[in-house]
Amino acid sequence: MLKIDAHTHILPKKMPNWSEKFGYGDFIYLQHHKQGYAKMMRGNQFFREIKDNCWDADVRIEEYKQYHTQVQVVCTIPVMFSYWAQPLNCLDLSKFLNDNLAKLVDKYPKQYVGLGTIPMQDTELAVKELARIKKIGLFAHAGGSFLPTIGRIEHGFNCRPDLVAIDNNENPRKYLGKFWVDCVTHDPLMLEYVLKLQGSKRVVLGSDYPFPLGDLEIGKFIEDMNLAESVKEDIFCNATLEWLQLSKEDYITK
Ligand SMILES: [Zn+2]
Repeated sequence: MLKIDAHTHILPKKMPNWSEKFGYGDFIYLQHHKQGYAKMMRGNQFFREIKDNCWDADVRIEEYKQYHTQVQVVCTIPVMFSYWAQPLNCLDLSKFLNDNLAKLVDKYPKQYVGLGTIPMQDTELAVKELARIKKIGLFAHAGGSFLPTIGRIEHGFNCRPDLVAIDNNENPRKYLGKFWVDCVTHDPLMLEYVLKLQGSKRVVLGSDYPFPLGDLEIGKFIEDMNLAESVKEDIFCNATLEWLQLSKEDYITK
C-alpha cells in the first residue's frame, strides 16, 4: 500500500548566517560540529542538536524504507518561519528555503512533496511568494486541532454566543471533516475518536519526523489497529492525495 507521510520537517544542509547577513536578530543557523550532526544555533545560543536525517534526502529515504513509507511531505521547521523579522528579510529567507525544497522535489519527484513558507507578516509579499512557490511546484501548509474540545466549543457557541459567536454564526461542529488533520496521537483510542469526527478522508498519516516528539515509526500503530483496509488506505495515502491534489500514479514506483 502506498504510504505518504504528510507531516515531516527538513532543512537545507547549508544556510547563510542570516543574523550576520541582515545585521540583527536571532535567526537560526547550523554549525556542523561533527560528522552526521549539527547544532541549531539561535543567534549565539544553542537551540538543539539535529542529525543528518534533518537535511540528507537519501538518509531519510533509507530510514523510511523500514516503515514501508514511500513519500514524505516536507516543510521547514516552524522556528525558521521568522515572522518577527523585517518583511523583506523574511522574504529572502523564505525564498532560500523554498528554492531548496523545490530542488529536492525536482531531484526526487516520487519521494518528496514540498510545502513552502511565506512571510506572513506582510500580506503583499506573502501573496507574491505564494504565487511563486506554486510555480516552482510547492504547496502551502495547513493545520489545525480542535477535535478533543469540540464539545465544549459547541456548548460555548450555543449557550454564550455573546462570547463565542462574535465574528461567526456557524456552529463549529459544521467544520468537522472540512479540513485535514494528521494522526500524531500516539494513541489508538484518540485516533478512533478523530476518525469518527473527521472521517478517514480527512485524516492524514503524519509523523513530525525527524523530531523525537513525533511518531518515528511512521504510523506503525495504525497498521496494528483493527481498521478496515480502506480506512488505512485513506489515512496512508488517499487523504493526502486529495488534500494536495496529487495522483497516486505519480508516486507508485514499479
Ligand atoms: Zn511538526
